[in-house]
Amino acid sequence: MSEKNTVYRVLARKYRPQKLSDLKGQELLAQSLRQSISDGRIPHAFLFHGIRGIGKTTTARIVAKALNCIGEDGKGVMTSEPCGVCKSCVSVQEDRHLDVLEIDAASHTSVDDIREIIDAARYKAVQGRYKIFIIDEVHMLSKSAFNALLKTLEEPPAHVKFIFATTELKKIPDTILSRCQRFDLKRIDQPMLIEYLGLIAQKEGFSATPQALSVLARAADGSMRDGLSLLDQSLSLTQAQKSITVEADLIRNMLGQADRGLLVDLLSSLLKGEVTDAMKVLNTLFERGADATSALQDIMDFIYAMVTYKTQKIQTNLGLSETETAQFLDLSQKTQLSVLLQSWQVLLKGYEELLKSPLQKQSLEMILLRLCYIVPLTIIDDHISAEPKTQAEKKNPKSKLTAVQDDPNNIDIKDFDSLLQALELKKEMMLHSHMRHDIHLVKFEIGMIQLRVTQGAKTDFIQALKIFLHNYTAHEWLIKLTAESGQKTLIEQQNDKQEKLNQEAISQTVVQSILKEFPDSKISTHNRELS
Ligand SMILES: [Zn+2]
Repeated sequence: MSEKNTVYRVLARKYRPQKLSDLKGQELLAQSLRQSISDGRIPHAFLFHGIRGIGKTTTARIVAKALNCIGEDGKGVMTSEPCGVCKSCVSVQEDRHLDVLEIDAASHTSVDDIREIIDAARYKAVQGRYKIFIIDEVHMLSKSAFNALLKTLEEPPAHVKFIFATTELKKIPDTILSRCQRFDLKRIDQPMLIEYLGLIAQKEGFSATPQALSVLARAADGSMRDGLSLLDQSLSLTQAQKSITVEADLIRNMLGQADRGLLVDLLSSLLKGEVTDAMKVLNTLFERGADATSALQDIMDFIYAMVTYKTQKIQTNLGLSETETAQFLDLSQKTQLSVLLQSWQVLLKGYEELLKSPLQKQSLEMILLRLCYIVPLTIIDDHISAEPKTQAEKKNPKSKLTAVQDDPNNIDIKDFDSLLQALELKKEMMLHSHMRHDIHLVKFEIGMIQLRVTQGAKTDFIQALKIFLHNYTAHEWLIKLTAESGQKTLIEQQNDKQEKLNQEAISQTVVQSILKEFPDSKISTHNRELS
């Protein structure tokens, strides 16, 4: 047994459930076992299936006790709630019951090991009602071992019960499976694990913050044993202060998850285009010993997780605390998918560069700076404004509106044409171009523009448009994207006009005669409105 295993044995043993009602998160299992036992419908072979560390052998032992319990007065019958104090119960609890034999199939896989069991099964129980064989990791048995076992399972002596435990159902032959009553153990869900670990910490005289418990529970990934093992290590690390917090970073370091929170901060700054802040966080990461390649990989993992969250609503386990997770999800929601995909491209290309670069830290800085500049306007809602908000505006968001109204820089935008003029005036030529090429106007009112973006065009510019309107007009503007077809784009309208003029020209006889003479020539009419 490894050193780590020895450590967790302490808590896992100390708090091992002794009754069905003590099993955490396995209510259904407990209920159906209770029913079987109280009805006297005891299968010859039980099969407990589930991931590692969720109580399969613990349940097996409780069942063994239940089948052999004789009650406090020594006269009791088989019961679904073993007394825990009779001779039989106590000896199972202390691993010394003569008729309850526990075998780890992982180390006893051969047919000879099974023959020994079969031989032993022939003799009547010495101490209890039943001779009980608990075979852990039963899927590890060899083929011939399974065959030998099958014979006994086909005609089991009345006093013999088998209890199998496995993590891998598929590796057990169907002939064996069909002779077992199967019970599935559930993965322990996070809230329950958090609550239980908190309770144990408390019983051990420690306080623990919900964040710390959540980090432990997440790392345990549904396994009670892993959860208790991690808690055990946390207790020994925080022995002096008797309080488990993630803030102290001890827990994170233990789990190898240090600095995960900093990564969220970094990502947040990068996606908001806050260059100075991003570089500060990056420096802190370097000071704490991060290396450029794995930092970049981490950032890519986070971007990937944002994309899966946005597209499939799947939350990736990033080893973040609850607060950081909330921050991360918020950021995911507010960042446009197109921006994330663009960022991914930049990072991927950067990653290749970084692998070849002799200047790791500097190269990473350059890559991240590039990211800051491609995504300057990505965060939806009021996270970005042209100038930092004053204290008064933070308290009263409406004051901004009043301030804007008095602003001499305000432009009067009352229709689509005046919007285009304003864009020209303020030299917003990219946005101006988007307005001409990429949108189909559906409705224009002061304060509300309803439009459809041309299929295939990026929609990033909508955010830029909102900010432009916010900065230069007295109103708050709502921009509604719709599926309604709306008008043609300005460019299409102009092309149509041009086409019409050309047609008119063609219809003129003079022109027609020229065409007759010179069939390959093209007619073009200069349209003054186009310039
Ligand atoms: Zn008992």
